[in-house]
Amino acid sequence: MEIIRVKNADEGGKKAFEIIKEGIAKGATTFGLATGSTPETLYSYLVASDLDFSDKTSINLDEYVGLSGDDEQSYRYFMNKHLFNEKPFKESYVPNGKAEDLEAECKHYDEIIEQHPIDIQILGIGQNGHIGFNEPGTPFDVKTQVVDLTESTINANKRYFDKVEDVPTRAVSMGIGSIMQSKKIVLMAFGEAKADAIKGMINDAPTTDLPASVLQNHDDVIVIVDEEAASKL
Ligand code: PGA
Repeated sequence: MEIIRVKNADEGGKKAFEIIKEGIAKGATTFGLATGSTPETLYSYLVASDLDFSDKTSINLDEYVGLSGDDEQSYRYFMNKHLFNEKPFKESYVPNGKAEDLEAECKHYDEIIEQHPIDIQILGIGQNGHIGFNEPGTPFDVKTQVVDLTESTINANKRYFDKVEDVPTRAVSMGIGSIMQSKKIVLMAFGEAKADAIKGMINDAPTTDLPASVLQNHDDVIVIVDEEAASKL
């Protein structure tokens, strides 16, 4: 893992932006994208840039079960607002959280990932070490699946909702196995709340107790951390 230390989320987003820009110059066409507060600065840099994504593909990590794309709390809505409305891609895939048959939706999403191998995958990390919504205990080889969110994740995400009861308890998430097939992975973490997860991810042996630690087994991972997230390294 290459560790890049930055002052703050803005500098971190700029670094990730530069990695994407360089990737495009080298021929990258397919981008795995993440939601949450972490990638927001990256998306601002992408929107402000002159990069053209109209011939590129994006595949998002996850979506809440039960929310449609026009629900303001859905990840499809988040992506439209922060990136796609300003920088349309040729095609942008986000799991369908309203699918009637969620198992079929998972299978369909795996087919999409297989047809569009991811050149650069952007990741955040949960306070509990999750990547995507792959919570602690998830086997390292899983494909897209419906997951039950942990209390830690629900609590971390309640800031976006009026009340904690409104936070969906399930999500469709790209699996760790698919994330690991991405050619390059860029994980960003900002803020003190991520310091323990970052320490475990980098310093401890890979364990399903801390899903992000699987990234030690990938040969092209860049970790961008601000001073607070790096404070326990
Ligand atoms: P955050 O979430 O970017 O909102 O901190 C990251 C994650 O849970 O993966």
